[in-house]
Amino acid sequence: MSGKEKEDILPIYGTTPFTLLDFPERTACIIWFSGCNMRCGYCHNPEIVKGKGLYDVEKVYAFLERRKHVLDGVVLSGGEASSYPGLPAFIKKVRTMGYAVKLDTNGIRPDLLDAFLKDGLLDYIALDYKAPIDKFKAVTNVAKFGLFSDTLDMLCRQQRIPFEVRTTVHTSLLDEEDIITIMRDLELRGYKGIYYIQNFCADNNRPTLGDIPAQKRLLNLNMLPRPERYQLRFRNFTAAPAA
Ligand code: SF4
Repeated sequence: MSGKEKEDILPIYGTTPFTLLDFPERTACIIWFSGCNMRCGYCHNPEIVKGKGLYDVEKVYAFLERRKHVLDGVVLSGGEASSYPGLPAFIKKVRTMGYAVKLDTNGIRPDLLDAFLKDGLLDYIALDYKAPIDKFKAVTNVAKFGLFSDTLDMLCRQQRIPFEVRTTVHTSLLDEEDIITIMRDLELRGYKGIYYIQNFCADNNRPTLGDIPAQKRLLNLNMLPRPERYQLRFRNFTAAPAA
C-alpha cells in the first residue's frame, strides 16, 4: 500500500474548525480521529471511539488550505490518533502548509511517539495520565500502565517538545489519594511542566462509554499538596483554590 493510499484511509471522524483553548498560544482547529485503544468508562465520545472515520481527508486538506491565514495550529484528538499508519504522512503535509501540530494522546504507544519525536513531527503533546498503576485497568479497561510509564519517562527525559500532563477525575473512579499518588510520581520522574487536573463534565446528560452515573461529589482540591517542581492547575472546577 502506498503512503498516499494509507493517508486516504485515515479514520477522521470530523473537525472542530476553531479553538483558542486546546493548543497553548495557537489559534487552532481540532481533527477528531475515530477509534481508540482504551475504553475509559467516563469517555464522553463513545460515538468517536466506536465510530468509523467517514470524513474525506482531502476535505481536511482543503479546509486547512483555506484557513491557513487564520489558524496556525492543528490538534490531533479523538479517539486516539497516534496509531494510524497514515498519520506521519498526514502530519508532514499539514506541517508543509505552515501549521504547528499538537497531539492529544493516552500514551500507550511509546514506540510511535518516539518515532514522531525523532522525525520532528510534533510541536506540543498533551498526555493523559489516566490513573495510578493500581487503578489503571479499572479506569481504562486496558492493563498497559507500563507502556504509559515508558511514554511519560521518554517525554520527561527530553526538552525539545513542550508537553503537558493531565488527569480527568470522575470521583467514582479516582479519589484524592489517587491524585496524590500521581503527583508524587510526577515529582519522582522530574516532571517540570503543568499538571492539569480536570473535573469530569457530563456532556448534556449523554451516556458515557461505560455508562457510568453522575459524580456524587467533586474532588476535594484542598487535600492536594502543592508541588515544588511543576505547576498545578485545575480545569472545570468551580471555585478552585489558587494553585
Ligand atoms: S477518554 Fe479513553 S476511551 Fe475515550 S478517547 Fe480518551 S483514551 Fe479513548
